[in-house]
Amino acid sequence: MSSPLLAEATRIAREFDYPAAQVQRGVAEYIRQSNEGLAQENTTLSQIPTFVTAVPNGTEKGLYLAVDLGGTNFRVCSVELHGDTTFSLTQSKIMIPRELMASGTSKDLFTFLARQIEAFLRIHHNEHFEAHQRRRREGKGEEELFDLGFTFSFPVRQYGINSGTLIRWTKGFNIPDAVGHDVCALLQSAIDDLDLPVRVAALVNDTVGTLMARSYTSPGETGTLLGAIFGTGTNGAYVEKLDKITKLKSMKDAHFDTSTGEMIINAEWGSFDNQLGVLPSTIYDRELDADSNNPGIQMFEKRVSGMFLGEILRRALVALHKDSKVDLFSNVSITPEGLLYRQWGLDTSLLSVVEADNTSQMTDIKTALKDHLNIENASNEDCQAVKILTHAIGKRAARLSAVPLAAILIHTGKLQTDDIVDVGVDGSVVEFYPNFEAHLREALREVKEVGVEGDKKVRIGISKDGSGVGAALIALVASKDENLKNPRE
Ligand code: ADP
Ligand code: MG
Repeated sequence: MSSPLLAEATRIAREFDYPAAQVQRGVAEYIRQSNEGLAQENTTLSQIPTFVTAVPNGTEKGLYLAVDLGGTNFRVCSVELHGDTTFSLTQSKIMIPRELMASGTSKDLFTFLARQIEAFLRIHHNEHFEAHQRRRREGKGEEELFDLGFTFSFPVRQYGINSGTLIRWTKGFNIPDAVGHDVCALLQSAIDDLDLPVRVAALVNDTVGTLMARSYTSPGETGTLLGAIFGTGTNGAYVEKLDKITKLKSMKDAHFDTSTGEMIINAEWGSFDNQLGVLPSTIYDRELDADSNNPGIQMFEKRVSGMFLGEILRRALVALHKDSKVDLFSNVSITPEGLLYRQWGLDTSLLSVVEADNTSQMTDIKTALKDHLNIENASNEDCQAVKILTHAIGKRAARLSAVPLAAILIHTGKLQTDDIVDVGVDGSVVEFYPNFEAHLREALREVKEVGVEGDKKVRIGISKDGSGVGAALIALVASKDENLKNPRE
């Protein structure tokens, strides 16, 4: 039955096999690297303490603000938590002027952000805003501040729930005078200059926001153990026992609430096993990494997340296309300038379309090849070859995703103590890639400490809006924390 093309596609696909024994080895190594990360700095798994020491159970109430600075847009939103796992969210999105991103001072940028918060309050919460201004004129302005969660998606060194210094800008931002400064203090001072009734209560990482949002919205009062993102990148945050985070003892400036005995850890698992002790590697993975702008880092992410899966497939297809012994896209004119030959030319959403099309004529695959790669007149056999490779790459990503999940289940002992272990996930890959969760769970069951019984206890739910409702929830938790640094102190 098999043509040389399909035989060769199948051979390449096998290189992406990630069998049970390797999953098991990956889990053991993840547990080892995570313990190392809890004990010391500069390890491959960063295991960053977030100073968030409680997760919500769905009964929380109140009105909170959240802002999100991380890319091209600045988002401002208010979240009303109804206390019954539901919430209402009002938001506005503002493009950040290019000149503020790269040529101005930090004061220019943060004043701009504070003005957007002011405009938002005037439009959506004007009564509260004016009442506050009135009280201030009467000399009692400190009550009734909005607590705000600040999602800031750049590398920061955090010292407490609402303090952290910028390590460096990324993603096109470049405002040198902000580096090394506390970004919460910068925002607070711009807010104070405008006399806004707002306290920057928490510095928020989006993965932690995902965990918090899921914990609030999940059914019942069970707290969520883990929040995980499988989108452009991949990362996870989970609830850890304080006494296991031994490196906290050496963090002299740290200040946080110890009453719950727990703290959320931001694993930064995209960097799991950068040394490639246990991660599977094909020639396509190695070449993708070598040609990337950060070779040798984010090695787990480079095998799992949306930014990279399309590029892995593209490289495998190029290998087939160049192979003179087989005919891929032989009825198609493909030039070296075409998208197939362009780095990052293939978006991961194509893989979802390919995986989903189980028809004999594969019309969706043909349409997608045309839309994504300008490849017209692909034959059924071409489509079949694309499908074989896609399936292998997607399945490996999903099985790899079981590794941190299984490791965290085992490491925290939750399968022994709890009947349900709740996990919140977010990101287009886990949301839209067909059977991603099914493949992930299959690998999870193959881990002997988890097994069929363990897998049954794991409840996975989508958690949207980590930087909105999640950030609001972190502001809420923070506002109850006596260690919170007060503005104007
Ligand atoms: P972000 O990570 O920026 O929050 P998303 O969660 O939407 O955003 O993830 C975007 C990534 O997901 C991109 O790398 C994109 O290629 C990929 N992607 C978008 N749509 C799909 C899809 N339908 N199936 C699989 N991957 C997708
Ligand atoms: Mg996202």
